[in-house]
Amino acid sequence: MNLEARQMDRAVGAIVGGAIGDALGAQYEFGPAHPDDFIPQFGRGHFGHGVGEWTDDTEMSIPILRQAAGELGAGTSVLEPAGQTAILKEWITWSHSAKDVGNQTRAVLRAIEAQMAHAEGAVLNEIALQASERQHEQAGKSAGNGSLMRTGPIGLIGIALSASSEPARSESASNEPASEKTALAAGQIAQLTHWESDNVDACVLWSLAIEHAILTGEIDVRRGLHFVPEGQRRERWSGYINEAIAPDAHPRDFMNGNGWVVQAFKAALSAVAGAESFEDAVYRAIRGGGDTDTVAAIAGNLAGAKFGLSGIPLSLQLPVHGYPGLDVNALVRLAALAVRGGKPDKQGWPSATSMLNPSWRRTEPVQHPFDAGVWLGSQSSLSHLPESVGAVVSLSRLGTKEIPAGIQSVRVWLVDTAGENNNLDFTLTEAGDVIALLRKQGKQVFVHCAEARSRTSAAAALYAVRHRGASLNEAWSRLNGRAGSGALPHYDPAPFLREAVERIVTSAAR
Ligand SMILES: [Mg+2]
Repeated sequence: MNLEARQMDRAVGAIVGGAIGDALGAQYEFGPAHPDDFIPQFGRGHFGHGVGEWTDDTEMSIPILRQAAGELGAGTSVLEPAGQTAILKEWITWSHSAKDVGNQTRAVLRAIEAQMAHAEGAVLNEIALQASERQHEQAGKSAGNGSLMRTGPIGLIGIALSASSEPARSESASNEPASEKTALAAGQIAQLTHWESDNVDACVLWSLAIEHAILTGEIDVRRGLHFVPEGQRRERWSGYINEAIAPDAHPRDFMNGNGWVVQAFKAALSAVAGAESFEDAVYRAIRGGGDTDTVAAIAGNLAGAKFGLSGIPLSLQLPVHGYPGLDVNALVRLAALAVRGGKPDKQGWPSATSMLNPSWRRTEPVQHPFDAGVWLGSQSSLSHLPESVGAVVSLSRLGTKEIPAGIQSVRVWLVDTAGENNNLDFTLTEAGDVIALLRKQGKQVFVHCAEARSRTSAAAALYAVRHRGASLNEAWSRLNGRAGSGALPHYDPAPFLREAVERIVTSAAR
């Protein structure tokens, strides 16, 4: 299925959003609730995770994502025994070096391992289900939040799985049927370790909500209710949803026992339902206290699916990293592949080593007219950057090998077509501001798009006005190399970007 640009933005946002919530919530795990003016910071996690490092929530979701992206053996889906076996093997390997593994999860993974020793090459999903059920019976319960915390990728996988069997869905077709395969995958992956039906219901509802948010930009958790068995069970969940989306509901209301999947679900939903932005959603989740990393990871998945990667502040994106040696750019690549069933798009993104198109005009690196430590140019310049450059801000899509080793790669999700950006003014402001952030860190910065014609002009103008004291007219005229002596020879900002820059500058001046 070919997703529209805005849908792809939201698909990758769902994955990055969960990782950010997880990493940001890590140092507050098991702590108290916080007031509304509390701003969470990245810090060392409760279990010793580094600053900005995600924890078991994201760590366990990554094998699901990698399986869907085709990295754990191509040609099989998470609905097939081979796909689930691949994920289970990754989880078992991970659990031996992980800083934190939930009790329920650890018990089941150890039981599977014990069985594996007697059955070389066995299909593990059946063994897992048996171990999961037995563990449930021994403990009398198995409804920890450990299944919901890792369910983020399932919404993307559902889109990929249903793509082959349904006509293409567009943003305008808002009545698309909730995907049966999404519900099936969510329940099956949950039960590999967490047997109890509350896990299945929570993961089904959340995964369908993520899928719907990616496709439409709207939050509607109720739309999955018809996949919850009719009767008392469905009524219970309907009641939980109502509690969480009540106008004044806050994650603090659900802090007690939010290690329980139902309470974590309600906390995360109340965080997202009452939020005005991505940032607001994860901050609310963490202010709720208790199992903060998990609640914020769950909330971050859905908030990211609503607001998109382009709606997530770069200051939250850049520090996140973690097992198995990934950063935000790697998560974007995996998410983009997962939602497309493991295949890159027609241009080869995100798998191609280079996205450079030979027909694009070249702009050799040139110094920003208001800051000699900022270089501007076209994508072709990435192969011969000035030696002083320590960070690249990319406004166009990159291949996997275009940024030279040792140089920081900051990527801004900015589409050069009117109407294809979910958060145009926000994203453009971020593009200008991240240049200032990198400069403050002492780095020389190279800013580029495809040709240094439109997006680079807009971001460079905003940087000049917001951080170098230039007027907007001065900024445009000293960047314009087509008329007179300006810096950029192919300068030609698209009208929608010019207008956005003017709006941003005017609203900041008010
Ligand atoms: Mg955790």
